[in-house]
Amino acid sequence: MSRLMIIGCGGVASVAVHKCCQNDEVFTDLMIASRTLSKCDALKAKLEAGTRTKISTAKVDADNVEELEALIKGYRPDAVLNLALPYQDLTIMEACLKAGVHYIDTANYEPENTDDPEWRAIYEKRCREAGFTAYFDYSWQWAYHERFKYAGLTALLGTGFDPGVTSVFAAYAKKHYFDEIDTIDILDCNGGDHGYPFATNFNPEINLREVSANGSYWENGHWVETKPMEIKRIYHFPEVGEKDMYLLHHEEIEALAKNIPGVKRIRFFMTFGQSYLTHMKCLENVGMLSTSPIEYEGKSIVPIQFLKALLPDPASLGERTVGKTNIGCIFTGRKNGKEKTVYIYNVCDHQECYREVGSQAVSYTTGVPAMIGAMMLVTGTWKGDGVFNVEEFDPDPYMEALNRWGLPWKVDEAPVLVE
Ligand code: NDP
Repeated sequence: MSRLMIIGCGGVASVAVHKCCQNDEVFTDLMIASRTLSKCDALKAKLEAGTRTKISTAKVDADNVEELEALIKGYRPDAVLNLALPYQDLTIMEACLKAGVHYIDTANYEPENTDDPEWRAIYEKRCREAGFTAYFDYSWQWAYHERFKYAGLTALLGTGFDPGVTSVFAAYAKKHYFDEIDTIDILDCNGGDHGYPFATNFNPEINLREVSANGSYWENGHWVETKPMEIKRIYHFPEVGEKDMYLLHHEEIEALAKNIPGVKRIRFFMTFGQSYLTHMKCLENVGMLSTSPIEYEGKSIVPIQFLKALLPDPASLGERTVGKTNIGCIFTGRKNGKEKTVYIYNVCDHQECYREVGSQAVSYTTGVPAMIGAMMLVTGTWKGDGVFNVEEFDPDPYMEALNRWGLPWKVDEAPVLVE
């Protein structure tokens, strides 16, 4: 029996809410709280007849700590699952501390306004010292460790697919297959086709910021930064086929470098089709990916936010997307002195996800592990005072839950390696 508050009601939250309602023995009470109340009410209306979970809804501005604190204190959940945007991570963490509840999310903090001079000064110092230039990093949230620890609360960071499942795959590989892991290649393949010339599979602003940024990887204790899309590989993905993939900076590299001792190299690759890359480059060249406000007809607009308003809503792609995703990790290292290679991955079919919960596989593969992470915390399966990434806990119950709740995984002990 537990009470959960989910903040946000977009593509990922919709899947997590569906899954909590399927898992109604654990999630007996659920509040969906977001900026647009009508979306929360519509989701409640769709689901409440088919579940024993008691659903409530509320309107909240998750940028406002006091408003959040009052809502959390009023509902008294065991945990808050943040499925709004990375911009709201810190305000929601603050509110959880003030209200005395656990915190869970799927993406690390990123500021909405990257021109803010106070943030920029800290960011530029980090770029110089750490050696990577992404707008997001874990330092902001890891800095809360002592406060969560002192309060006897847990903050569970990054329980989506990547970060999230890929991080748990790493903990599972470490526990069951290796004495030492030397390299980790995280491969994120979306073989789906939605039929539009250009659309993003999750929040366009967050997605385009990530993809248009410099790439980077971790090697021998430091970051190596690349130009955007500088490193390309071709890989044949099980059940999907051959795809072009590109090296990106990704947040779980930072956490795994800290939490998997001795690892020598960690890289992240994502597949993109040529049409996506050509559209993105063109939009970037004309300034449409800019996060800095411009004046237009007496009004201040942020180009990338205007672009978001023009693009298809990711939540609407489910019905028209066909094909599969394949996301996983290839590990190399040693067990009992012998060289070893292991590939752990999940394949997810867009149309099967749509039939089950009305969403495409990118929202599904994030929303299911968000529910599982929340379940690990509220059932006390994972316990710890402070701020933790998912790979810091026992991976076994999480891996079992993936099989049970719609994301079964496979292990291949002789995969083709990425060059
Ligand atoms: P969406 O844009 O579809 O949904 C975001 C939701 O948050 C919307 O309902 C939005 O409200 C709400 N929201 C935004 N700002 C506020 C605010 N200030 N107060 C209250 N509610 C707010 O995003 P997605 O569902 O695609 O993504 C959700 C999260 O999941 C993101 O953080 C994303 O980075 C993360 N993610 C993680 C992945 C992983 O594998 N780890 C993969 C994919 C996504 P409104 O409905 O009014 O717009």
